[in-house]
Amino acid sequence: MKSPVYFWNLRASLKAPYAERIRKLLTRTGFAEHIDGGELTAVKIHFGERGVTSHVQPLMVKPVLDYLAKAGARPFLTDASTLYVGQRGEAVSHAMQAAHHGYDPLLLGAPVIIADGLKGGNQKALPVKGKHMAEAFIAADIADADLLVSINHAKGHELAGYGGALKNIGMGSASKQGKMLQHVTTGPLVNLDKCVGCGACVSMCASQALSLAEALGENMKGQKKHILLDQARCIGCGACFLACKTGALEINWKTDVAAFLERMLEYAAAVLLTRPKPCLHINFVTNVTPDCDCMGFSDACICPDVGILASLDPVAIDQASVDLINQAEPLWPSHLPKGLKPGDDKFRALRPHLPEHLGLDYAETLGLGTRDYELVAL
Ligand code: SF4
Ligand code: SF4
Repeated sequence: MKSPVYFWNLRASLKAPYAERIRKLLTRTGFAEHIDGGELTAVKIHFGERGVTSHVQPLMVKPVLDYLAKAGARPFLTDASTLYVGQRGEAVSHAMQAAHHGYDPLLLGAPVIIADGLKGGNQKALPVKGKHMAEAFIAADIADADLLVSINHAKGHELAGYGGALKNIGMGSASKQGKMLQHVTTGPLVNLDKCVGCGACVSMCASQALSLAEALGENMKGQKKHILLDQARCIGCGACFLACKTGALEINWKTDVAAFLERMLEYAAAVLLTRPKPCLHINFVTNVTPDCDCMGFSDACICPDVGILASLDPVAIDQASVDLINQAEPLWPSHLPKGLKPGDDKFRALRPHLPEHLGLDYAETLGLGTRDYELVAL
């Protein structure tokens, strides 16, 4: 059976301005019928790294929060800490970054709560039936919320290829440990120039894969010891990343992308399939940049603004968003290859190593939804 995906093409009028269109779009999904009253509702969003301008803007989010509150829910805006060092690596900087981008509780009527605690360690293990894992480590306040709404910026992504609802939920709801377990397959890349020989990572490694070795002479910083990784013992758990403060242990971003996508989608399954009530997903197919909102800049868009989509099916809404982006006119000076036409696959043109369906076929296999959708225009 086809899943309905409700679509507004951004045309507005004095009688039906933005907030009214959003209200109509969300009403069509039927989500409000699942609100009894008083539910603490996690609205999972990406506040945008410092320097980004293409993230979903707070004034675009306000009518969504108003709609939820009017239906009886008690929404809060949320995200979890990132793995990399930036403005969102722990809760204090993250909340300040949200404020810097205008996510003001008094303006929006909803507070910002960073869902995995002060340093990213507040997590819950949720069960999942995947081929890579049986449990996933999810930011506790997202797991604990009575209802879940995802607000997603549909765009490209440097590793996943495309980022929409499933990426926002799968990667974005994971605790730091959960994020590491999605990224890591073969353990860390070791940058000896950055290693100060402190040994902090050694005790973190339950597999005894790390040890300190005498350096052959002093390294560039004058240290006499450096870390040694026994690749054969490493199980890729990622725990050592938390210990290293110098950046000597780096994530191998060139990991097998298909397997990475599968792990990310298994995380999305852990979040969504353990919930007693349906979740609402809202995709903003606007400011469609080639990279994600973590990058610290917003590059030229790959297509014109397409619209806003809403659905209870995260697979359907992501498939519809991908299709609409691919059907749209390509835009330059984005770094899309020259000669691309409407209908060509923009995501795989940008990153040819991506699997054909960007992992959405595996999302179907996990039971997250269907790629077979019906686009219902407002
Ligand atoms: S990834 Fe895990 S097993 Fe591998 S070196 Fe780091 S802590 Fe040890
Ligand atoms: S890799 Fe990092 S944590 Fe480990 S010894 Fe070197 S500097 Fe210390």
